[in-house]
Amino acid sequence: MICPKCKNRDVVKRGKRYNKSGIKQRYLCNKCKSIFIKKDGFERMRYKKKDITRAIHLHNDGLSLFQIQNHLWQHDGVKVTRRAINQWIKKYGLFLKSNKQNFTNHKRKHPL
Ligand SMILES: [Zn+2]
Repeated sequence: MICPKCKNRDVVKRGKRYNKSGIKQRYLCNKCKSIFIKKDGFERMRYKKKDITRAIHLHNDGLSLFQIQNHLWQHDGVKVTRRAINQWIKKYGLFLKSNKQNFTNHKRKHPL
């Protein structure tokens, strides 16, 4: 982690902040004493993180862009363009896919 203000690398974890989109790790810069939050790439999105992850999971399950668009509207009341869904898949799809793989490996090791 690098301090966004003074570019110093001497930063420490300083508790967590909870908001609508989830838990954010807070950091304190030891040099300029400013507190900042680690960016996870979802901050600038107009949509909620859960809607984006849901769309990507639906895509991984084999749904078309049109079906995903329809699902988000029917189940969550979220209006989103197919273009936006396509962008999410390109931007976050790979990252979430690897998370999913870890999860299945974990399940296999501990059968219910
Ligand atoms: Zn700083």
